[in-house]
Amino acid sequence: MKDFEEVIMGYLEQDALEEASRCIQCKNPTCIGGCPVGIDIKTFIGWIKKKNYDAAYATIREKNNFPSICGRVCPAEYQCRKACVFTKKGEPFASHESININFLERFIGDYGAHGGLIATMAGAARLARYKVAVVGSGPAGLCCAGELARSGIQVTVFEGLHKTGGVLRYGIPSFRLPRDVLDFEINLLKKLGVEIQTNFIVGKAQTIEELFADGYSAVFLGLGAGIPSFLGIPGENLCNIYSANEFLTRVNLMSANDFPKHHTPVNIGKHVVVIGGGNTAMDAARVAIRLQHAGGIAPDTTVAYRRTELEMPARRLEIEHAKEEGVTFAMLVKPEEFIGDDTGFVTRLRASRCELGEPDASGRRRPVVVPGSTFTIECDLAVIAVGLGANRILTSVTPQLETDKYGDVTVNPETMETSMKGVFAGGDIVGGEGTVIEAMGMAKKAAAAIIVYLSHL
Ligand code: FAD
Ligand code: SF4
Repeated sequence: MKDFEEVIMGYLEQDALEEASRCIQCKNPTCIGGCPVGIDIKTFIGWIKKKNYDAAYATIREKNNFPSICGRVCPAEYQCRKACVFTKKGEPFASHESININFLERFIGDYGAHGGLIATMAGAARLARYKVAVVGSGPAGLCCAGELARSGIQVTVFEGLHKTGGVLRYGIPSFRLPRDVLDFEINLLKKLGVEIQTNFIVGKAQTIEELFADGYSAVFLGLGAGIPSFLGIPGENLCNIYSANEFLTRVNLMSANDFPKHHTPVNIGKHVVVIGGGNTAMDAARVAIRLQHAGGIAPDTTVAYRRTELEMPARRLEIEHAKEEGVTFAMLVKPEEFIGDDTGFVTRLRASRCELGEPDASGRRRPVVVPGSTFTIECDLAVIAVGLGANRILTSVTPQLETDKYGDVTVNPETMETSMKGVFAGGDIVGGEGTVIEAMGMAKKAAAAIIVYLSHL
């Protein structure tokens, strides 16, 4: 909790062998259905049992370009682990008895990275004459780029920021995803021939039409959901109230925790309140605790959430880690107003207590304010982590690109093709905030459709 080094230690070989030995190699391996990219989980665990780690690595990489990343950040308890036979039906999260698939994936991903194993290029020479532009270097863009490059296609990734990775770099802190792990996977793409152009905002530097005019035969949009939502309550514009995006970007991308060695600063609060209940809120709270330690301030960071812990969308593991690191949880709390001093800085949060009512459209029980229950919390720094929306920089200058009421790009769900011919999309810009592996699943589908599209040109 006092630095940004990785928190969760991976398996040693003996741990991996013991865990793999628990997998009963089901005739009908339900775990695979729980993986958005369909990794052959049974087979790769089978290879681990036989200590054939090269084969395990190859099995995973057939379906997943980034095993070291997914092994760390995938919410496996809602995905493959939940579908493992050891999880009993009706349990909201995977049971502890389920096979720890993500740890095994991480073990093999890191083995591949340390052993320098490189996924072979399938290399379809027929397609080598085509160039495809990928916009955005988050997991969707990188995954699509890797799939296309493996088919011999020339790929250029255009990224608006000065570094690649999207949320993997600017959102998820290094204590959950070390930067050397991310850099390894991105360098592997470069070795496959993927070109990366940073500081290039498509829609500002060039339009989609100009990319086609430059000789690109197809375009993939992995624009993400980078625009933060706010609460819309009085006082939200006071100083020291950050969106989680800004707070995390300052630290994760711009190294503000190392100011003034790096140019970007970030303010450190004595009493920090993070509003929200998702992964972003957990990351922001855990970063805030670290900044307090680094600044010699007694840690005081509270996560305020309208419902209870059970309804929190954050991973259980992240909630547990935040608690272990000293984050306080204030449940059933609805922010009403930020109060500031006469210099314009926030000093307190006024909030109401809630109780749970009937389930809403999301299936979670609705928070209902208890009349007359308002109270105030000391708060000299707040981080708002209540959701993200579509990044509209490109769509706003491309009227031919159909979007829905949320600003997300509309696609044919079978091919991920948009309303513009030759333009495909995937990840959070389609269907809103999701997970890394879901973004990759969409990108793989789009890449397959792009290959078919190019084959018919
Ligand atoms: P992004 O990762 O957002 O990448 C989009 C990229 O496109 C960005 O780099 C952006 O700069 C670039 N871009 C946008 N517009 C343009 C343009 N016009 N020109 C050029 N470049 C452009 N998911 C998990 O599975 N596990 C987790 O633990 C987890 N933790 C998270 C923590 C945080 C703080 C956040 C915010 C999200 C988290 N998620 C997690 C969700 C996950 O990160 C996203 O679902 C995933 O990153 C979406 O991938 P993407 O490629 O669609 O978009
Ligand atoms: Fe069966 Fe679980 Fe092993 Fe998958 S991981 S093969 S569901 S025991």
